[in-house]
Amino acid sequence: MKCPNCNSNETKIIDSRYVESAKKRKRMCKSCENKWDTYELILEKEQLERLLKLGEYRNRRHWSENEDDALQFLFEEGLTTKEIGEELGRTEESVDKRIRRLGLRRKRELRKLNILLENNELTKVLEGLKKIGGL
Ligand SMILES: [Zn+2]
Repeated sequence: MKCPNCNSNETKIIDSRYVESAKKRKRMCKSCENKWDTYELILEKEQLERLLKLGEYRNRRHWSENEDDALQFLFEEGLTTKEIGEELGRTEESVDKRIRRLGLRRKRELRKLNILLENNELTKVLEGLKKIGGL
């Protein structure tokens, strides 16, 4: 184990005892004499799986209004879900779910139709509406 103070590998255990269900070790660095504690926790397979699931937590993390705005902006800029995920620190799956939830694809289609309508391209509007189930 490396010393958190000076990064030296020369450390020793100066005390070891059980605290609750964890093994607490007092360690000391031989180079700088820094002292710190480590805890070794024995986990059942089930507990470990639960902890690993916590790692997926960011998928379900609540989307703030700012994040939704950023998502919408990036989506409209034409970024892929993967790229948006990288920008926002979310997984691709999470981004995709949110896009569906906010109906961004549908909104984009409707906006395209709006533009077409302004250009009086009625046939295309009707085709577009059929495509997104608006008719
Ligand atoms: Zn040290």
